[in-house]
Amino acid sequence: MSSRSRKARAKFMPATVDQQANDCTFVDAWVPDYGRKCENCGETPVVTGVADGRVVYNGSLCGVCSWGNSAAANPANW
Ligand SMILES: [Zn+2]
Repeated sequence: MSSRSRKARAKFMPATVDQQANDCTFVDAWVPDYGRKCENCGETPVVTGVADGRVVYNGSLCGVCSWGNSAAANPANW
């Protein structure tokens, strides 16, 4: 029952990318996108978030700029 009401709510209130980015529990996994460069520093890959097999967060920043941690330069640490 909760999944049905959640779907209805999403239909009427489409979440923006920013809202999704702030809700980390919404994302199942962080996936590197090597096809784009970080808007801030030009590094690749940029961060995208996947939930239920679909991209729900299309980031424009690399791991380091997203998390402010140099260890995040390696997608294996995401
Ligand atoms: Zn960056």
